Amino acid sequence: MKSTRVIVNRRRSFALAAGICSLLFGPPPLNASEGSSVADNFRKAFEAAGTQHFNLYNMLCPRIENANAGKIAQPKEARKDSIEKAVSAKVFDNLYYVGEYAFWESSASSWVVDTGEGIVLIDTLNPDSGPILIEKGLREQGLDPQNIKYIVVGHAHGDHYGGARYLQDKYGARIMMSAAEWDFLAKDKRDPAQKPRKDMVIKDGETFRLGSASFSFYVTPGHTPGTVSTIFIVKDGPKERKVAQWGGTGFGFGGAEGDEKLNWFKTYVQSAERFKNVIRESGADVLIANHPGLDNTVEKNAALSQPSGRDSNPWVIGNDRVVAYVQTAQSCAAAGLAAYQ
Ligand SMILES: [Zn+2]
Repeated sequence: MKSTRVIVNRRRSFALAAGICSLLFGPPPLNASEGSSVADNFRKAFEAAGTQHFNLYNMLCPRIENANAGKIAQPKEARKDSIEKAVSAKVFDNLYYVGEYAFWESSASSWVVDTGEGIVLIDTLNPDSGPILIEKGLREQGLDPQNIKYIVVGHAHGDHYGGARYLQDKYGARIMMSAAEWDFLAKDKRDPAQKPRKDMVIKDGETFRLGSASFSFYVTPGHTPGTVSTIFIVKDGPKERKVAQWGGTGFGFGGAEGDEKLNWFKTYVQSAERFKNVIRESGADVLIANHPGLDNTVEKNAALSQPSGRDSNPWVIGNDRVVAYVQTAQSCAAAGLAAYQ
């Protein structure tokens, strides 16, 4: 883990202080001398977050200075909990959650779409959880892991591709990532035997159809060079639901500094702006994240399991609130950009 850098720049320390302030007392007041900069963007992010996306705000805005600020290593016991306490859930008629339990950032989500002609997974958790939870969750939900046909890996960090190689080897599942992300994975220092073998390449803007499902993929670099964000359709009784997933989240940028770091923030802002427009045009009214802490998976699924839970499905949050999730991330990235320009 990286240590927190000593903050020497007044403007940056303002940024960090404003982030902490806003956690305690609401959005920081606009400081005229800052113009439409750090404080402005914190305010926008805070307003977009509201209570629904506050965990996302909390993970991003106070960390524009150092993506690892305030992080402590996940205790072994918590890692165990994230696997042992995980509960699979049916979210809509053909969308299921088979991911981890804990709120820690390294706890990851895995989503299942049963298309009728095979299962499509979005993300495969960590190496210690993916090979356990995905098969277990599928069986709990009455689905056969043998039917896993395709796996979309939103970005090539180990907490999302961790189970991919296992499923590729065991079931012949096809793995899909963007070209930039396959390159990024190749540079990852992890043991090659733990990485999925190069397979299908997702192209920006393409639509992938299987059975009753349809996935539209957008290459949205920012968290990593080739992060893929997805809009897809699932069945909800007589209705169709459009689901949006923002494929990356944090501002780690592989430890980049100076202009390189600035460019990452810029890229992140541009990708978020584009994906917001895609969400608006699609009318998506459901947001799923790639970590259960970010979309309140555990709480939503617990509510769903109540007798009346399906009468007003907590996963349906409306198009404006789906846009607001990406807006929160975008405004935090814009704050980073303002702080480093
Ligand atoms: Zn990541």
